[in-house]
Amino acid sequence: MPIKIKEIEAKHVLVKSNLPDTDYVVNPYTGCEFGCAYCYASFMGRFVNEPIGNWGNYVYVKKNAVEAFRRDLAQLGPKSRRSSIFLSSVTDPYQGVEAKYKLTRGILEVLAKEAYPGEVGILTKSSMVLRDIDVFHRIVNPDIGMTITTTDDALGRFLEVRASATSLRLSTLKKLSAEGFGTYAFVGPLLPHFRYEPELLDKLFGSLVDSGVRQVYVEHINMKAYIRERLMKTLEQARPEVREVYANADTEPHRKELDKIVAELLKKHGLGLRLKEVIYHKEWMDK
Ligand code: SF4
Repeated sequence: MPIKIKEIEAKHVLVKSNLPDTDYVVNPYTGCEFGCAYCYASFMGRFVNEPIGNWGNYVYVKKNAVEAFRRDLAQLGPKSRRSSIFLSSVTDPYQGVEAKYKLTRGILEVLAKEAYPGEVGILTKSSMVLRDIDVFHRIVNPDIGMTITTTDDALGRFLEVRASATSLRLSTLKKLSAEGFGTYAFVGPLLPHFRYEPELLDKLFGSLVDSGVRQVYVEHINMKAYIRERLMKTLEQARPEVREVYANADTEPHRKELDKIVAELLKKHGLGLRLKEVIYHKEWMDK
């Protein structure tokens, strides 16, 4: 099914964040063609009258996002001028349509031109981020990261349907590191089967270190009802034992067991854990 692309106007794009370590978020798009099976952002469909089940099949392009961002930024008071700004919390800033619309790039250009002093965070699953290396070099305080959930390209393709292959993401991180950027990885969701196959997480952390990453966020899987429904539908054909592991992922014993594994492996690989703990706070998700 072709992705539905629709242009819309946005009043504001710089929005106060309730994520734990960022002040503002910017989402130039509503919807995300990467269509990850575990995506918590599928609730965003209610703002554009799209059913949750249709997540991944549409992108609403806020075509005036750069102008709106410039306006919003100008309205920040002097005290907020050092606030951290993050792209993006409920969409991927470098999904396919960005090649045409360049909204993420336009927003970054605004921040570069203003020599914006606050942290500018990027998180993506796309190698398209490399296109904007020239802008990142002109941004005062960039913080660039990629989501990496597995080193298995086939599993990545299954769960993160249209995102860049994991191997490509790792080589993208390597290129960003070689450019001198201090990169991070977002290991989220922490795939439940790592509990039973910790060697796979060991390999993942090792690959991150090889790619120049020194810091990670790690997040437990979010199994709110609407996410569980989509994810379990994706896993319909999976082996019963795999389905069972995922179905029982949102329990305290499971999280505790994984926390222990994560702590040991972070230590082994010398990786720093941002926020000092494995994230499990559903209420942090931006609405
Ligand atoms: S890339 Fe992020 S926003 Fe897009 S579908 Fe995947 S998890 Fe959701």
